[in-house]
Amino acid sequence: MKCPYCGSENILCNAVIDLHSGCGPLYRKGPVSLVSEWGVDFCLDCGTAVRFFVRGDLDRKWVTK
Ligand SMILES: [Zn+2]
Repeated sequence: MKCPYCGSENILCNAVIDLHSGCGPLYRKGPVSLVSEWGVDFCLDCGTAVRFFVRGDLDRKWVTK
C-alpha cells in the first residue's frame, strides 16, 4: 500500500484507536448499545490516514438514523 499524498510505502497497518475516545460506530447487543473498535492504517511519513475501518465482527446490529 502506498500513501496517496506523499507516495511513501512506510504505512503502519491496523493501529488500534482507543475506545475511551468514545467515537466509533454504535451497534446493539440485546438492550445495550456498544461502540465498535476502529482500526486505522496511516502513513508514518506524513501522518495521513490511508484506511479507516471497523475491526472485528461486521455482522452486528448497527445503529443508524
Ligand atoms: Zn504520506
